[in-house]
Amino acid sequence: MIFADRQSRLGTESAFTVLARAGALAAEGRDIINLGIGQPDFQTPPHVVEAGIKALRDGHHGYTPANGIPVLREAVAADLHRRHGVEVNPDNVVIVPGGKPTMFFAVMMFGQPGTEILYPDPGFPIYESVIRYSGATAVPLPLSEDTGFAFSAESLLAKITPRTQLIIINSPANPTGGVTPRAEIDALVAGLADHPHVAVLSDEIYSQMLYEGREHVSLLQYPEIRDRLIVLDGWSKTYAMTGWRLGYAVWPDRAVEGATRLAINDHSCVNASAQYAGLAALTGSQDAVQEMMTRFDQRRRVIVKALNDLPGVRCADPAGAFYAFPNITGTGLTSRAAQDRILTEAGVATIAGTAFGQHGEGFLRLSYANSTDNILDAIHRIRAIL
Ligand code: PLP
Repeated sequence: MIFADRQSRLGTESAFTVLARAGALAAEGRDIINLGIGQPDFQTPPHVVEAGIKALRDGHHGYTPANGIPVLREAVAADLHRRHGVEVNPDNVVIVPGGKPTMFFAVMMFGQPGTEILYPDPGFPIYESVIRYSGATAVPLPLSEDTGFAFSAESLLAKITPRTQLIIINSPANPTGGVTPRAEIDALVAGLADHPHVAVLSDEIYSQMLYEGREHVSLLQYPEIRDRLIVLDGWSKTYAMTGWRLGYAVWPDRAVEGATRLAINDHSCVNASAQYAGLAALTGSQDAVQEMMTRFDQRRRVIVKALNDLPGVRCADPAGAFYAFPNITGTGLTSRAAQDRILTEAGVATIAGTAFGQHGEGFLRLSYANSTDNILDAIHRIRAIL
């Protein structure tokens, strides 16, 4: 076999590797607390599950339109109007199996050798992986603890060159919980007027996961860039539906046909019952979302306080998502050494900051999608190592 060159450039998401190692240790009888994986530890709301089951019973067993069932695309547009006060044409919505396919499609649509794509670092590892896979040059946008890991419009705009085809932004962010304030997004959009060749992918998968009254600023609220904006969102995090594989993006007019074509080439359509479940999630009661966020907020406070009490560790308040991203440089451990020792010696799965890019060195990601008791037990165990 002779693999294509691009195969060697494909990265991965360490959360899945750590999950596998944690699973193997648990299978050996070790008591493992998993603060590694980025998925809510809640169940999908029952009415959503029932809608999925009903769809199967009702005979929705066949292909659907490649871009998703019309009623779901209409519900997405209505939901975006409700949450962001924006008009979205359902024809611009493409339903895909999760948040990731939109990343892949957008990067493959714009990236090729000789082009550059900007992405946040530390950031979701799949951005860099697929940029490199596409043959484009991956240009990291360093995010700093000093700004709460919000991106700075000025430094982002300064990195744009004539070769930049796409910029990727993510707020609220994984792995940092950083939320970019409206003023920075205003400045970014204003600055993009000087770079009309640049498309924007805004990953808003954590758009409903904010704390302390912070607002989510959707890029959809800026009409001046709608003709080159892709907004990624989905059900995985908001409705605890990671395993259903359901997400969507709003594509600009000129790109939506290409995105649908990529869907046809890749997966034909999302499985029908998941789409009906997603419809129930958007159109039914949102109480479960509120309840989940109340619980996440309680845990957020617990984990941040407990981390700050550890020697050599300092942790800023995450403003969104469900991750704490403490600075561990004071412990004298590298991120990777901390991740490995904390897993093997303390039985706690966490993820090294470097799994999210080189600027993640000195940090560790802990997901607080776990019970308060487990979180406190985990920190207690980490303290014993430190
Ligand atoms: N975008 C970000 C920033 C994420 O953190 C994740 C998952 O962790 C995704 C997208 C992908 O979500 P999905 O599981 O729906 O593919």
